[in-house]
Amino acid sequence: MTIAFYDTKAYDREFFGRTPGHDQVEWQFHEFRLNATTAGTAAEARAVCIFVNDRVDRACLEILARQKVKLVALRCAGFNNVDVKAAGELGIAVVRVPAYSPHAVAEHAVALLLTLNRKIHRAHNRVREHNFSLSGLVGFDLHGKTVGIVGTGKIGRIAAQIFRGFGTRVLASDPFPAPDWAKKHGIEYTGLSELFRASDIVSLHVPLLPDTHHLLNDRSIAEMKPGAYVINTSRGKLIDTTALIGALKSGHLGGVALDVYEEEEGIFFEDHSGSVLQDDELSRLLTFPNVLITSHQAFLTREALGEIARVTVQNLLALDGGKPFLDGTIVGG
Ligand code: NAD
Repeated sequence: MTIAFYDTKAYDREFFGRTPGHDQVEWQFHEFRLNATTAGTAAEARAVCIFVNDRVDRACLEILARQKVKLVALRCAGFNNVDVKAAGELGIAVVRVPAYSPHAVAEHAVALLLTLNRKIHRAHNRVREHNFSLSGLVGFDLHGKTVGIVGTGKIGRIAAQIFRGFGTRVLASDPFPAPDWAKKHGIEYTGLSELFRASDIVSLHVPLLPDTHHLLNDRSIAEMKPGAYVINTSRGKLIDTTALIGALKSGHLGGVALDVYEEEEGIFFEDHSGSVLQDDELSRLLTFPNVLITSHQAFLTREALGEIARVTVQNLLALDGGKPFLDGTIVGG
């Protein structure tokens, strides 16, 4: 069985190449992304394997269906880049890896906050240049602060528990709350507005859906405490970047840590160090001393990559053997 594998990185080859069952599949690794323009390259394939910035819209799926592709296998949890409804109509199954390592993402969110607050990135650069001055490196104790967790699914819950370990008060908001879990960990559910108003730090852990698009906008950011910190390790389009820049310029927000960016497609995951950055809003964000950006790397641990490869290979072999996909991995089905 041939699998067309898109947006391939060296670590994908490494981890898929050592997963049991990988040798039962013929891999066609492509470094470019899958979209309606490139879909013709899956002509030989029964399945396509994609990541967060491939764009599998209806036009792309129609081409895949004509080529007899039967499965879209996402190497990630979020599936906002696949038109699941169109896939269902065209008879193409969609599988994902719903929980490869929620710890990886939650731990990265906390790492971003600690780095930004205690200015570790700036201190590291200074010390390497033998500048041992402490001016401008003042942070704050996390202990005693209020952290607002938006979305208490797999990742949000782990992040909330880690923050409890720092001695913070943790507020949470989710349309499907988990009261037993909250009680056990001393976490308080509240409405979103109340969470924004009361939190010193707001961390986003919701999927990108029509009703979460620009969840942080001029209005919701204005509700936040002056000096609040925002962390987003979820999806870039949860935040209206123009509103975020406005709140940073006015000083209303104290700090912003992002692992994802609204227009990251075509920028993140690649080396652009030799060219002129064309995205003016990203360029502006990079000028703020109180903004820290990583390039969608929250998932990047050995454990997560191993699990992504294991689940994906099992699902591909299930397709080949006419067996059901792993529990919980199918979306829209
Ligand atoms: P999950 O499905 O387990 O949890 C999502 C939670 O959000 C659910 O409890 C849901 O009820 C809640 N939710 C939905 N709409 C909401 C709203 N309007 N307000 C508040 N809560 C809402 O998902 P997860 O595994 O915790 O992952 C969360 C997101 O993290 C994913 O959708 C993905 O976009 C992102 N992610 C990012 C990376 C990365 O590398 N940066 C890696 C994995 C996942």
